[in-house]
Amino acid sequence: MTHIPDDHPRYVSLKIREKIVEGVQMAITSMQGLVAQGRGEAFDYLIGERTIESAAVAERVAVAYLLIAQKPVISVNGNTAALVPRALVSLADIIGAQLEVNLFHRSDARVHRIIEHLKAHGAGNVLGLKGDARLDLSHDRAIVDQEGIYAADVVLVPLEDGDRCKKLVDMGKIVISVDLNPLSRTSLSATVTIVDNVTRALDNMVQFTKEMKKDSKEQLRSIIDSYDNRKILADAMYAIQENLKNQTEREGIEWI
Ligand code: ATP
Ligand code: MG
Repeated sequence: MTHIPDDHPRYVSLKIREKIVEGVQMAITSMQGLVAQGRGEAFDYLIGERTIESAAVAERVAVAYLLIAQKPVISVNGNTAALVPRALVSLADIIGAQLEVNLFHRSDARVHRIIEHLKAHGAGNVLGLKGDARLDLSHDRAIVDQEGIYAADVVLVPLEDGDRCKKLVDMGKIVISVDLNPLSRTSLSATVTIVDNVTRALDNMVQFTKEMKKDSKEQLRSIIDSYDNRKILADAMYAIQENLKNQTEREGIEWI
């Protein structure tokens, strides 16, 4: 692992990059996952590498949905397994959700390695190897576990592919996405869109769950009922615009 000095101006971002590279070296993250991370980094830059207020709102609503769910499932891919294994396990534990490995570039060996990686970070049972049910999709993200994603009422899909996200919504599920691009097909089709880096989002959600776990069902319902996902998307785009404008002005370049 390359040493990143902690006074480096891009320290956090570079540390995250190192984790993804480690994921590839451990053969849990695909090579394509590196490129996906790059697309995420670009959007994180635009958004100011912080949790914007509307993302924190979406994260609380996501937690409310997960807490009232009958059968919550957290979908794990190679990028999230490399970046946030401990937070995934913590969130699943305090929510009482199942973890299920689901991959675009699927092989049983890689599913197995990710399951072992999650177990090394404290996970109990992890689904994904059975693959005994199918969503109506032409790629391998269609392969799911009958008792997991297929039967779930609420699914958290950090870094999802757009067409599977839409398919899960079409099946009547509540779908919560984490995606830094507010214009991706995933972001546009999810029930709750969290426009935040998965590294910040998962930590925030663990924290919010600890706070909200004692809330009544009615309190959680009212958090959900007052939520408007279109507003959250608009706010993320506004945040990008404002961040670009401020940065442009700081550099003495005229904003047109
Ligand atoms: P879609 O299929 O939803 O239209 P896409 O094809 O543009 O999206 P994918 O390659 O399917 O994108 O997945 C990568 C997505 O994940 C990108 O939208 C990217 O912004 C986002 N992403 C990558 N890394 C992170 C991260 N660390 N945190 C949050 N989002 C991320
Ligand atoms: Mg895609």
